[in-house]
Order: sequence, then structure tokens, then C-alpha cells
Amino acid sequence: MHLAKFPRLFMAHLPTRLEKLSRLSQALNGPTIWLKRDDCTGMSTGGNKTRKLEFLMAEAVEQKADCVITQGATQSNHARQTAAFSAKLGMACHILLEDRTGSNKDAYKNNGNVLLDHLHGATTKTFVGGTDMIQAMEDLAETLRAKGQNVYVIPGGGSNPTGALGYVNCAYELVGQANDMGLEIDHIVTATGSAGTQAGLIVGLKAIHAQIPLLGIGVRAPKDKQEENVFKLAQATAQKLGCPDVVSRADVVANCDYVGKGYGIPGEDTLEAIRLFATLEGILLDPVYSGKGAAGLIDLCRKGHFKQSDNVVFLHTGGSAGLFGYIDDFNK
Ligand SMILES: *Cc1c(COP(=O)(O)O)cnc(C)c1O
Repeated sequence: MHLAKFPRLFMAHLPTRLEKLSRLSQALNGPTIWLKRDDCTGMSTGGNKTRKLEFLMAEAVEQKADCVITQGATQSNHARQTAAFSAKLGMACHILLEDRTGSNKDAYKNNGNVLLDHLHGATTKTFVGGTDMIQAMEDLAETLRAKGQNVYVIPGGGSNPTGALGYVNCAYELVGQANDMGLEIDHIVTATGSAGTQAGLIVGLKAIHAQIPLLGIGVRAPKDKQEENVFKLAQATAQKLGCPDVVSRADVVANCDYVGKGYGIPGEDTLEAIRLFATLEGILLDPVYSGKGAAGLIDLCRKGHFKQSDNVVFLHTGGSAGLFGYIDDFNK
């Protein structure tokens, strides 16, 4: 479990803070909610992709890549942060965006993350929902290679065993912080999408025998599929780290009751969660991931899922740049 044996670019602002959300905890009448501020990791406003890209982009540098290709939804935070890393490293960045929501709103298509992709100098190309995006990336890679370019392809969300190392690292960091504060963590909750965050966290937690349950709040896939995706990636990540059997299927738990109408479509509960964090704590969430994760967290608190005396850490995975693509949802 020695992360230093993997190439890494030390570009993230770490460690991120672990802050108590007193007013939110009080408003919900317990448990005590703590926020792990991975929205403040740096690289174009920060977010969870920074930790993954420290390892992914180090691999790109090692392979002497001169350009990077990745893909995501129109308002992909991963795309924005990959564009920022590419700018910093002087690599070209080509982003393939899948129209997963069908929104025809100008803000959704041009503001928020899309604005920032372009500001960082990336090219973007839009594809209709349901396109085979992995194939689309391969096709572009072939074209660029034929022109003599050295291409590094990053999967959607940066979720492969290399990217997940960033969240193995986060698990170590979080548990270390809690130990130093004398804080006993009872639960960790995070939004889960392309699975790298949850997979990396569970590998890190299990590898150090932290005995802290981790709950993923799904933003897209149904529970069985989400858990299976996380478990597969956790196994591959553990294998890469040299501790292949550290995660069992039962360690992977996702609650996918808060997906609502679908990926990238915030329901009333998500908008309420965003407003609660903003007005009670001065914290910005996002409409696609952290807002849905927080909607799940809040509902589970209200339903008495946690003990009042519990310390629950919510991982803030970032994404607030996406708010500006969703102005129409707040003005309804
Ligand atoms: C990508 C993303 C997630 C989901 O993380 P995965 O590793 O893809 O599961 C959560 N929150 C934000 C803001 C993201 O951009």
C-alpha cells in the first residue's frame, strides 16, 4: 500500500480541510455532519477529478503524450479539470461531450463547465446521447496517431485503476486527519458516478482496516449496476496496489434512490439540498453530483438512518462550476 511507487504530479491543494457543518447538523437535528472539502483541491475551481488526474496525467507525461482525449456529459467537471491539467502541462486537450440530458438551454450548452473547457484551450465536440463514447474516443485517437501525435486517452470521469489511486490517497488522508483530531468517524457518504471515487476510497479504507462504512449515493445507474461497477474497479485498483483481496462485494454499498428523472437532471430534493448548504453553511454544491449526494444524505438523516450521536463525513466532490449551466432550474 505504498502510493509513492506510482507516478504522480503534485498539483492538488492537499490536504483538503475537514470542517464541521454545525448549522446543517442542527437544522437536521443530528447526526453531526462533517464536510471533507475536496471541492477545494485546485485546478480550475477544484473537485474530485484533481486527485485522479494527479496520477493519470503523470502517466501521460511519463508516456511523453502531446495530447489528451477524454469524454463526459456536456457539463462534465472531469472534462473541465482535464482541460486545466492539459493547459498547465502544455498538452492539447480534445473533449468529446455526450448530450445525456437533451437540454436545449443555452446556459447548459455553453456556460459553466463548457465555458471553462474553452477558456483552458480545449476543443470540444458534441455527440448525441447514447453514442458509444469509448469508440468515439478511439476513432479520434486513431486519426491523431495517423498524424504523428502521441495520444493519451482518459476514460470518462478518470475512472480506471490509475485514477482511483487518487481516492486511495484521500482515504489515507481523511483517516489520518480524523485520528489527529480525535474524531471517530461513523460513516462516510459520497456521490458516486463513474465509480472511481467510491472504488478508490473503499480500497484505501479496507487496506488500512479503518472499519468505517462507506455509502455511495448514485447519480445515474440503478443500485445493482452501480455496486457492480464500483466493485470491479475496486478489485482492479487493489490488484494494482498489490493487495488483491482487500475488498469484498459486501463492502460496496450504493443507494440509488436519489437519481430522480435521470443523470444530470436535478429534482426538487437536489435543489433543496443545494439551497440548504448555500444558506446554512455558505457552501456551493452542484446540480449533478454533490447536490444529489447531499439530497440523499439529508433524506437519510431525516429518516433516522444515522444515530444522532454519529459523526458522518460527507465528501464534497466539487462541481459548483456546473451551477452556471443550470440557471434555468433555479429560476423556475
Ligand atoms: C465526477 C464527479 C463525481 C462522481 O465521482 P466518480 O468518481 O465519477 O464516481 C462526483 N461529484 C462531482 C462533482 C464529480 O464531478
